[in-house]
This record gives sequence, C-alpha cells and structure tokens, in this order.
Amino acid sequence: MTDENHPRRVLLKLSGEAFGGGSIGLDPTVVRRVAAEIGAAVADGVQVAIVCGGGNFFRGAELAQNGLDRARADYMGMLGTVMNCLALQDFLEQAGVDTRVQTAITMGQVAEPYIPLRAIRHLEKGRVVIFGAGAGMPYFSTDTVCVQRALETHCDEVLMGKNGVDAVYSADPRTNPDAVRLEHLTYTEAIVQELGVMDSTALSMCRDNGVRMRVFGLEEPGNVTRVLRGEKIGTLVTE
Ligand code: UDP
Repeated sequence: MTDENHPRRVLLKLSGEAFGGGSIGLDPTVVRRVAAEIGAAVADGVQVAIVCGGGNFFRGAELAQNGLDRARADYMGMLGTVMNCLALQDFLEQAGVDTRVQTAITMGQVAEPYIPLRAIRHLEKGRVVIFGAGAGMPYFSTDTVCVQRALETHCDEVLMGKNGVDAVYSADPRTNPDAVRLEHLTYTEAIVQELGVMDSTALSMCRDNGVRMRVFGLEEPGNVTRVLRGEKIGTLVTE
C-alpha cells in the first residue's frame, strides 16, 4: 500500500469526545484501543500525525457562556488538549510505537515546541507526531489546526474520526430516519448545507487549499487502522 518513494502520510484528528468516551475526562480503555489500532498501521509503514481535541475537558465558548473571559477559557481548552496528547503518547509507547508530542504553547518538560521541519523528520523516521495546544491562539478550533498541520507537514489526507456516526449524512441519522449516508461530498456542499463535518473556518481552509479528507466512525473496532491504511470507509470530502 505504501511504496519506498512515497509512503502514505496522514493527519488523524481525534476529538476530545474520542478520549472521553462521551464523558468528561479520559476513558483509558478507548484510548488504549485507538493507540493499538494506530500502532498496527504504523507497523505497515504509514506515517501518522495526530491532532488531539480537548472538548472532553473544556470548550472555551461554553466556559465563556458561564462568565469566563473567552480568550482565557480558550487557553484552558488548549491545555486540555495536551492532557489528551500525553495519554495517547503513553498508550502508543506501551504499544511499542515511538512518539513525539509537539505543542503550540511551549512547555518544555512535557513536549517539544511545534517545529514543522522537525515534525516531518520524526514522521520520516516512523515516529507518530502528536500535535497539542491547538494553534496556541484563542478563537481557533482543533479542526482548523488539523487542516493547517496537514498542509504544513505535507500529509496526503486528513482523517476525521467521529463518535456516534460512521460517515457524513444529509441530516442527523440519530434523530432523522430519512437521513441519507453520503459517500462523497464537496466542501462547498458541506458549508452551504451546514452538515456539521467541521467548523466553517476549517472547511473553507480545506476548500481553498485542495485538502482531501475522509470522515469516518471511530467506534467500530478496526476502523482506525483501516482508514490509516487507506481503506475507503466513511465519506470522502474534496474540493
Ligand atoms: N482552542 C483554541 N485554539 C485552538 C484550538 C483549541 O482556543 O487553536 C480551544 C477552544 O476553546 C476549544 C478547546 O480548545 O473549544 C478544545 O478544542 P476543540 O473544541 O477543537 O476540541 P474537540 O471539539 O475536537 O474536542
């Protein structure tokens, strides 16, 4: 599946929901399983970069609604993503996978700073690179960051892991029985129809830069390995 000249390189987005198993904090069973599935693809030669979300700890916009200053709340959200990075790093290392965490907010004791060329070297050496602390800037989301990191580290594809759904649907399949499962859609369709794939900033960035993205369900065992290896599961989103 990968060849010597051009190994497959992908950016996997894991939302905070994936780490919390639907609740606040960490669900180690889920993180261990996802780590093992990532390890299986890395063993095949797939180069894997990961952006961790942090919604299982804090979302800045929600805290701001409860009276916190928005920017400070967003920094709390970014710090939450780093805890997810460290948990994933730990389970990956336990599974025998070499890893590096790089954060957009410098914290030398726990992670390297975000240095794109160094991240690329890690990937070339077969290390999984986990990006934390978002963009280091309030008012951004980890969805936007995953597009930016994928572009800067020359990933072939962005892989958006979702909880509760296995693909993009025309409406929410949990509440609308007429929802149609989509094999393929464009970023413009996703934006205009407000399909909830990613936030609009991230979708525009994908469209403007010709990013290829696959949206898939995280809960089905084996799906993470499958999508990392390049199996066509879920929904493909293109320009
Ligand atoms: N965040 C931010 N800037 C960034 C990335 C994240 O301010 O570049 C904050 C923001 O408050 C966000 C929180 O971190 O709500 C957690 O990230 P996100 O909501 O994207 O995580 P996910 O929804 O993927 O769990």
